[in-house]
Amino acid sequence: SETDPRLRKMFEAVAQAVIAHADELTELDSAIGDGDHGHNMTRGMQAVLGELDALVAKPWNEALKAAGMQLVMKVGGASGPLYGTLVMTLGKSLDTPPTRDGLTAALHAAIEAVMARGKASAGQKTMLDVLVPVSEAVSAGRSPAEVAEVARKACAATKEMLATKGRASFLGERSVGHIDPGARSSQIMIEAIAEQLG
Ligand code: ADP
Ligand code: MG
Ligand code: MG
Repeated sequence: SETDPRLRKMFEAVAQAVIAHADELTELDSAIGDGDHGHNMTRGMQAVLGELDALVAKPWNEALKAAGMQLVMKVGGASGPLYGTLVMTLGKSLDTPPTRDGLTAALHAAIEAVMARGKASAGQKTMLDVLVPVSEAVSAGRSPAEVAEVARKACAATKEMLATKGRASFLGERSVGHIDPGARSSQIMIEAIAEQLG
């Protein structure tokens, strides 16, 4: 029995969008990291798709907690525990069925948890440079299409940033001039969610 048909569509849309951009994510990570971000994310998304029937039988919050655990186990690297924390905390914080205010609060809590886990904040050329402005746009009541646009601009803006967290920070000034792979994967996922909500 499915709790909510939107949940399956949401997971599928996010996973398919990430998998469709795997080569690009790997290319971005080849420029300023170790060239595995597309592979890492694909492994995680395939694990979620493989568990989809079991996931969508759960209420939203339980499904997100379980999906977050899959990401921690399967994505690996720096991004796995961070995306896992994001999705697990969303699940822990979200009311079922989700409301707009509940989602805003849960997103805020989830991003705080990512910052704590990675000891990072916005401005360091990471996924947080997309996630933080997205959370602010959601809090400000922006529409899904507007939030997607905020995410696109925020992702593009990481190109000129200097990395001070993660592998890219080892490059120092040479990290400038490339979009951050985790910022791009966050943007891809947010765009997929916004399309489902819009
Ligand atoms: P790894 O660097 O271990 O190979 P990935 O390539 O999967 O892991 O992920 C790299 C991405 O993880 C970076 O592009 C960046 O967005 C994100 N990242 C790395 N460290 C942090 C951190 N401390 N906080 C937030 N995001 C981070
Ligand atoms: Mg990498
Ligand atoms: Mg790696």
